[in-house]
Amino acid sequence: MRSPIPDYLDGALQSVAADESGAPADYIPELAGADPDRLAVAVCTIDGARYTAGDVGVEFSIQSISKPFVYALALADRGFEAVLEKVWVEPSGDAFNELSLDPETSRPLNPMINAGAITTNSLAGAPEMDAAARHERIVDGLSAFAGRRLSVDDAVFESEMNTAYRNRALANLLRANGIIDEDPIVAVAAYTRQCSLSVTTEDLAVMAATLANGGVHPVSGAPVVSRAVARQVLSVMATCGMYDGAGDWMTRVGVPAKSGVSGGLIGALPGQVGISTFSPRLDRHGNSVRGLDLFERFTADMGMHLMEVPPATTTVIRSDRVHHAPAGDVRVVSLQGALQFSGAEQVLRYFVDKTIEEHRIALALVRVQSVNDVARRMLLEVIRRLSLEGHEVFLIDPDQVIPDPDPGTGGSVVVLHSLQDLLPLWRRRAAE
Ligand code: GLN
Repeated sequence: MRSPIPDYLDGALQSVAADESGAPADYIPELAGADPDRLAVAVCTIDGARYTAGDVGVEFSIQSISKPFVYALALADRGFEAVLEKVWVEPSGDAFNELSLDPETSRPLNPMINAGAITTNSLAGAPEMDAAARHERIVDGLSAFAGRRLSVDDAVFESEMNTAYRNRALANLLRANGIIDEDPIVAVAAYTRQCSLSVTTEDLAVMAATLANGGVHPVSGAPVVSRAVARQVLSVMATCGMYDGAGDWMTRVGVPAKSGVSGGLIGALPGQVGISTFSPRLDRHGNSVRGLDLFERFTADMGMHLMEVPPATTTVIRSDRVHHAPAGDVRVVSLQGALQFSGAEQVLRYFVDKTIEEHRIALALVRVQSVNDVARRMLLEVIRRLSLEGHEVFLIDPDQVIPDPDPGTGGSVVVLHSLQDLLPLWRRRAAE
């Protein structure tokens, strides 16, 4: 069978192709010369499947889409505290090149605006690194997100450096306020170099999917940044990624996103996919016109809005049966689904509301795909309390969704691979 997804993506591109509104960025001469008709889309799932349509072979400079990834590297290399001290996480509501500083601390309001991004660039790598070593760290780091070696487009770099008056002004003010320690000229060059890395639309989808996948590369499975870093970056993208259009974007499209002035746009839907589009004509906020349309369409068609999530669990208790055995009855309560807080709460409530006569209770996790940290702790507490009430508790957990269960003080549990394992256990006990 041929997958219908590329056809869907082709259709989506066709539906926006005729829109020629907006214009490529002209403050960077090299970008002004870009072919405005280029149009591409790529989707990468968190298990590495990729779908593309349009001009996916075209390389363009990453520009501001580098910001979330370099922010991730700074967080990974220096830790949250050191980075937050220098760059805050509040949406500015201003354009990307505004000098939006926290009035009390003078730190840039967030890492997605230029002032914040110039600062996070200076925080990537080890503190003792010079600009060249830091650049290597950034190229290595962004290449790890993409899963292939990226390189700088020197023409774009030179072109932007020739006209980077505004970013130089920002860097000078950052230096004057003690936010960066570096020579402002060096800081702007380093930041501009990061923006000049060449990528394809597909690279960007893979990079976004790495964030959506909790920092693990979707194709190679290599860990790129920690889950905590990925969460932080996605949160900042959700609140600040679209600059002064961030609120409008979040309500209409509803995915953490980042745009760049070369016409790229990425969205990362946590736990599902990374998506990217490329179309160089921009609106007045500096966001790709057709990219925005495409994303709005994807949200509507693919149900991607972050605030519209199906219930995490319908019925967690799949069945509750008493199994009769010569050595005594056992009550088997089977659970199902991907358990998070609300699912574990159902289990908890089930045992609170029910008085169980049987001495032996088995919790069967055969149909449970995953148990997150809070749900694991809640289930173990259920086990502990049932043990304290005098029950003998078994956990049937063939896939070890709860590895090494420890119900804590006063609790005890016997872990079994399957329900059948109960029988020999009975027999052995009866013989003892
Ligand atoms: N290099 C560009 C700048 O600093 C990036 C801006 C963007 O993509 N929004 O102006």
